Amino acid sequence: MDWRDAAACRTEDPELFFPLGDDGLSRRQIDQARAVCHRCPVLNACASWAVVNAEYDGVWGGMTAAERRVLRLRRLADGPRR
Ligand code: SF4
Repeated sequence: MDWRDAAACRTEDPELFFPLGDDGLSRRQIDQARAVCHRCPVLNACASWAVVNAEYDGVWGGMTAAERRVLRLRRLADGPRR
């Protein structure tokens, strides 16, 4: 079974996870998307996938694209894992 099969967002409107920005009215949409993510049984798998694959848009794993970018840069700065 793929982790996507258990995703809480499977029954949500996909548009919810793709806000137009990071502030203003988009902030409310992001919070609603995060609420779905935070009850999702595959949050960690989703977040890892989105960071590793540099998913550049949308809320994945409870994080915005900007938040994932910061995490990805930190991981790159830390160097390869052993
Ligand atoms: S963490 Fe969020 S975006 Fe990822 S599968 Fe779950 S509900 Fe969907």
